[in-house]
This record gives sequence, structure tokens and C-alpha cells, in this order.
Amino acid sequence: MRQFYAGFGASFRNSGVHPSAPDSLTDEAPPRRSKSSRRKRGPKDPVSYTVESLDGEDVSDVDDSLPDADGVGESAVPPERVVVDIDEDRIDPDAAKVVRRLVRHGYEAYLVGGCVRDLLLNKSPKDFDVATSARPEVVRRLFRNSRIIGRRFRLVHVLYGGGKVIETATFRRNPSEDEQSDDLLIRNDNTFGVAHEDAARRDFTINALFYDLDRGEALDWCGGMRDIERRAVRTIGDPIIRFREDPVRMLRAIKFSARLDLGIDPDTYHALVQCRETLAMAAKPRLFEEILRLLRGGAAHRSIWLAWETGVLDVLLPELSSYLYDRPPDEHRVWGLLDQIDLLTRGVDPVDDITLLALLLFEPMMEACDGRRDRVIACEEFVDPLVERLAVPRRIADALRRIVAILPKLANGGAGKFARTPLFPIATQILNSLRGVDDRPMDIPPPPSRVGRRKKRGGRRRRSGAEPSSE
Ligand code: ATP
Ligand code: MG
Repeated sequence: MRQFYAGFGASFRNSGVHPSAPDSLTDEAPPRRSKSSRRKRGPKDPVSYTVESLDGEDVSDVDDSLPDADGVGESAVPPERVVVDIDEDRIDPDAAKVVRRLVRHGYEAYLVGGCVRDLLLNKSPKDFDVATSARPEVVRRLFRNSRIIGRRFRLVHVLYGGGKVIETATFRRNPSEDEQSDDLLIRNDNTFGVAHEDAARRDFTINALFYDLDRGEALDWCGGMRDIERRAVRTIGDPIIRFREDPVRMLRAIKFSARLDLGIDPDTYHALVQCRETLAMAAKPRLFEEILRLLRGGAAHRSIWLAWETGVLDVLLPELSSYLYDRPPDEHRVWGLLDQIDLLTRGVDPVDDITLLALLLFEPMMEACDGRRDRVIACEEFVDPLVERLAVPRRIADALRRIVAILPKLANGGAGKFARTPLFPIATQILNSLRGVDDRPMDIPPPPSRVGRRKKRGGRRRRSGAEPSSE
């Protein structure tokens, strides 16, 4: 029996057994029925849907005669099974219900991915995902309060009260070599597979652990338990291949390392540095979304530092990375503003994407405005290449331009008509964050009209720490 570290809220030991049948498949709490029907909006799904039974236990139209053949096959490769004894009260009860009902109906079903990783690292999972051998249509029929989503790869969202969604996916596998193109980029990942294939298609070993709820065991095909123990982000398989297949994984490595305070395995780290240019091949909206995730996770400072250190920032946000290269840290407040982002995102209220991006890019944007008569045009010239490179939505790009252009006026107490626009609270939040770094928020060039007037009088204000503009 192998004991891993204690004190992480779960104790691990290798059970070394492959049980043939669960001890108890009937431990599930008796079904409860909700009284009312409500319309809820799920966080992952902007479309409204009707939630008929808020606890998802309405079994009235469950077809118990579904043949097991409706599932995908059994995994031929046995996992290492490690007893981890995670407290049941740390597990979302609805996710547990989904798993148990699938198992009761003869399918394999596990908690998977980020929730298992977070539980083992003693963090609170954001959400709970389930992987199963049952096909989407079967899952759909087992849970009346569910819907199939996705065209390319179909998954089932099982819907619960409060907009909760338990994402339930059928095991799938990576495309085989002959299904793949020469550049390795994965364009098709919608083939059903078995459990070990589903683990192997995932990005990092720590994200490939399956949790067998009734046995309290982690199923490990990829060495994830060892990496949890040594607190390392490591790709499954050759990191160069895995990053070329999907360059967004590089940003995910940075995110997990920063957010969970994990190291990056040396081979994975070197591959990340080596493959960083391939990020330019990834779908732009995915890159943009992943940058926002780096900022949202409460570890924006560490994330952007790591992105800069690895050269990833040069590819994604060259305007920010060159700004950082050009100045010693005491001459700018980029890191201080990232700390402000972390303060905001660790709070209870969601933070608008506009705030996140404005604070991230504030310093180089202000530099771009330095000495320019028309700040709106200067901001536009700064933002346009970003919009092109990362498919920044127009709404956000326009807001960034407007806010950065108006900030000096706001800092001097004059909001005018802008105070009645929906951007005003966002701009105020940004100004407060600027003030949170130091008392220099006023140290912004005055708005365009005044710049013009001052220039005529022969004086142009310079922000302290900023280079004089060479315009
Ligand atoms: P978070 O807490 O940020 O949601 P997560 O690990 O749950 O972290 P998701 O983006 O929700 O991340 O993805 C769920 C799971 O899907 C991951 O844990 C991983 O196993 C797998 N996954 C996600 N993105 C990829 C990818 N690009 N390549 C391979 N596997 C991926
Ligand atoms: Mg997740």
C-alpha cells in the first residue's frame, strides 16, 4: 500500500485491485421530485431552456430497458487505481447523482478532468464534469432534464436548479495518425473511444484522472497522481507533438501553473518555449478566450509573468511584451495593475472583460496616446492590430478605445454625458484600480482638446516614467 501526502484533504493509497463489480450500486438517495417548473439560464449555455425537475431525479420517462450495447466498449487497458477517499461533501451532489444513475444502468461513469484535479489539490472545483461509456442519446434519455449540445462533438448537459449544468460526455479518443493531417493540428476530435483513450486524449496528466465515486478511487492511466504529488504540469505524451496538435494547450499550461501554483515539468516547459510561435495558428477566438481565462483565474500577475518569461506574450501581445522589455519594473505599473486584476477577480462579483483588458493593456495604451492630439485615434491604432490578431469582439474593442480616451477627463472629475452610459461604472472601476496601484491615476495626459491648447502654449505634459514620444 502506498501512502501519498496527507493534509491535502484526501489521502491516497494504491489499492492495486481491479474490482469486477461495484460494492453497492443502490446507495443512491431516493428520488426527489420538484414541485415546480422553472426557466433557467445555464452559465455555459446562453440559450434558455425549461428545467422541469430541478433536482434531475424525475425518472418518469427513463427507459430502464436501454441495452448496454448503447454504450461504447470497455477499456482494454487497466488503470492504476489509487484510493483517494475524497469527502463526499466536497463533491457536487448532482454530479454524483449523474454518475450513480449511469452506473446503475450498467454504464461506466466517472467524475473527470478539472474537478478531480482540484479535489486532489484541495481546491474547490469550478464545475464537475462526467465522462461515461453511455452514448449521448442514452444519457439524454436517462435524464429528462438534459439536452444534447454541440454539432461537432455531441455532449449532454444535465440541467439542475440555479442554472447548474453537469456536462456529461461520452468517452472519445484522439484521431488516429491516418486521420490526422501533416501539420499535426487536430481538426477532428469527435470519435467515440473507451475510458483509457479518453484519458490519453486529454492535455495534461493532472487533467486525465478519473474518479470512481463509489470506490473512492482515482483511475490513472497517464501518471497524473505522481504529477499531483510533485505538483507539476506535464503533457500526456511528447509535449512538442501535443502543443503542435493544439497550441492553445500552451496557454492552458500557463494557466494551470499560475492558478494552481504548480511547476511546469522541464520537458513541457522547453517545448512550450520552442512551440510558442505556433500559437499564431490557433483559432483566434480561442486565443482571446484563453487570455481572458488567464486574467480571470485570480492569478493574472503570475500568468502574464509566465507568458512573458516563456516568450508566449511576444506572440500574443507583442505591444505589451515590448513595453515590458523596454522598461525596468520601477518605471511602470503593469505588474501592479495585474495585482489589481487579481484583487478584483478574487472578489465575489464577476469582473467585466473590458476591465480586465483595459487594466492589462493600460500602460502600453497610454504610451501610444502620449503626445497624440487625438487620443481616440491613437487608441484605435493601438487596438486595431489586436482586434485582427485575436478576434477581439467589436463591442470590447470599442469600449476599450472609448474608456482609455475618456479616463483623463474622468480622473479630473469630469464625466459629462459619459456618466450616463453603461461604460461609466466600468471606467470608474478601472480608475479605482489605477488609484490602487499608486496615486498617479491623474498622471495621464489631459484629454485631446486641452492637449491642443497646452501645446500651443508650448508645454506638453509627460507622464512620469514614460519616454517622450517620438511622434
Ligand atoms: P477549469 O477549472 O479551468 O475549468 P478544466 O481542467 O476543467 O479547468 P476545461 O477547459 O473545463 O478545463 O476542460 C475540461 C477537461 O477537458 C480538461 O481537464 C482536460 O482534461 C480536457 N481538455 C480541455 N481542453 C483540452 C485541450 N485543448 N486538449 C486536450 N484536452 C483538453
Ligand atoms: Mg472545467
